[in-house]
Amino acid sequence: MSTGNEGLRFVRRAMAPAVVMLSLATLAAPPAAAQDPAPAPDATRPDATRWVWNLADLYATPEAWQAEHDRLKGQVAEVAALEAGFAQGPEAMAAAFDTIWTAYRAMSRLYSYASLRADEDVRVAENQARLQQARMLYAQLQVATSWIDPAIIALGEPTVRGWLEQEEGLADYAFYLENVLRRAPHTLSPEAEAILAGTSQLRSSPENTRSLFFNGELPWPEVTLSTGETVTLTPSAYTLHRAAPNRADRQLVFDTFFGAIAGFESTLGATLDGQMQALQFETRQRKFEGSLDRALFSEAMPVAVYDRLIGEVNAALPTLHRYFRLRGRMLEVEDLSYMDIYPPLVSLDKVFTIEESIALTRRALAPLGEEFIAAYDEGVEGGWIHVYPQPGKRAGAYMSGSAYDVHPYVLLNHNDDYEGASTFAHEYGHAVHSILANRAQPYPTAGYSTFIAESASIMNEQLLSAMLIREAATPDEKLFYLGQALEMIRGTYFRQAMFGEIEREINALADAGEPINGERLTALYLETLRRYHGHDAGVMRVDEAYGVEWGYIPHFFYDFYLYQYATSIAAASWFAERIVGGDEATTRAFIDMLKAGGSGHPFELMRAAGLDLSEATAHDALERRMNAIMDEMEAILAEQGR
Ligand SMILES: [Zn+2]
Repeated sequence: MSTGNEGLRFVRRAMAPAVVMLSLATLAAPPAAAQDPAPAPDATRPDATRWVWNLADLYATPEAWQAEHDRLKGQVAEVAALEAGFAQGPEAMAAAFDTIWTAYRAMSRLYSYASLRADEDVRVAENQARLQQARMLYAQLQVATSWIDPAIIALGEPTVRGWLEQEEGLADYAFYLENVLRRAPHTLSPEAEAILAGTSQLRSSPENTRSLFFNGELPWPEVTLSTGETVTLTPSAYTLHRAAPNRADRQLVFDTFFGAIAGFESTLGATLDGQMQALQFETRQRKFEGSLDRALFSEAMPVAVYDRLIGEVNAALPTLHRYFRLRGRMLEVEDLSYMDIYPPLVSLDKVFTIEESIALTRRALAPLGEEFIAAYDEGVEGGWIHVYPQPGKRAGAYMSGSAYDVHPYVLLNHNDDYEGASTFAHEYGHAVHSILANRAQPYPTAGYSTFIAESASIMNEQLLSAMLIREAATPDEKLFYLGQALEMIRGTYFRQAMFGEIEREINALADAGEPINGERLTALYLETLRRYHGHDAGVMRVDEAYGVEWGYIPHFFYDFYLYQYATSIAAASWFAERIVGGDEATTRAFIDMLKAGGSGHPFELMRAAGLDLSEATAHDALERRMNAIMDEMEAILAEQGR
């Protein structure tokens, strides 16, 4: 995607195919994956079909999908009519819930097929039309069930608790009911909720404006590189050429690209101000102290976790600066500048076929134990994964675990390189998570949070990376893996936390009713960027011209989304350290956390696994790992006399 400039494969997963599923989280759990074992891979199947997912596991034919769609459409009115008898007693409530969740469960499977089929080739109109049909039906189902939360709140907490105790049939819905009660102080009267819902399109206008402007109307400049090639610096061309090996090219690319954005500083500032006003509106209406409180409340994440992240990242800046000095040494650049952060330190020609990626990942994940590996083996040999790029196929990578009764599906664009292997380890880790959670949990609590999901999958990537570092055949190969691991920490931990810190500042201005404009955003961004990159300490020069970079970062529109990834990689480092170190109790607790699915809030689930994210523990583990990586790199460089 054009905004995928930060190298976060998980942003893709959470923002795109899951859009509909995410909003489902408020009612049904976001659906996950398989309960029925997958059909055994057919050994006679040729490779061409082996590495394409088999959507017939969902519906045998498009006609079967259409028939199911029509059946479900007929159910919408039935679900809406449940409102009348819902509050008669605990049994009526349990029966209504069963009908409603069964409808969502079928809806998720229906949506999965439409969405996966559409992603195989986004140019096929018939598939897009099917996806549109699925979206519309989903929206209808949502409208038909929008009465539930207010109806539960109207019953009152003592009644709901009493019914929960009396009626066994409500047990699977206990977490959901508790959550509705928890939200009650921030839930408005039905009339006010309706008004709020009516403003949602209005409130998404700033983000739409930004997207249209960036993807169509902003006039991108042309540059001629030292190779003689002339390129139009769109965001994707910028992402490619900012890593140019020639330093003068990088300078030209940076200066031209940010020069173009600077011409629209005021417009972009007003757009982001509009977004902040929109968030403020909901924050005030729902009676939260500030936008950060509101955003973190949805998953009961303590604000202390956010504050801890920003505090620990700032304390770890000397370690980041050590990395920049090492980078300067390896690139042989004395006066390191911000435009030197993207060129790779070492290149590697090694081929990682999908078969090798699967075998390597399996070996790397062995410390997770038999149960994990058994789940890993279930679908990895064919039919669950769409592996290779093809014309019209959706870019990026994701795992879809929405078909609870079938099995997870994974989309890759595998290129036989290290990045491909690492992406496979990450996405297939999500698939295993879905298998474990779905088997252990009933449908209403199977869907897990992004927070737990990313911690687990980033950990899988780290285990793969650690194994490849250990087994590297040459010092240069080892340096490559070490350099990649360092870059992952910079991009996922430090950079996302920096955005998180800026986002907190911008929202705090809005909370206080202070004006936000382009000039002010540039000053705030430049100050933070320089602090993180050691400008004043002489580590890396950050030219004033780059202060407008905020205008290019779409994530400031995502409502406190990025802190999850920075925190997740720290959590992953803590788990990886212990699991690789043979800590069996933590390994068991980690697997139990995966199996817990969405039966608890992520902060509590992680604390039950032994990690309290409001403390420094996870961040310390990440910093230790980063320093150990650099120790190893410096030892290799010293041996090579570099
Ligand atoms: Zn992910």
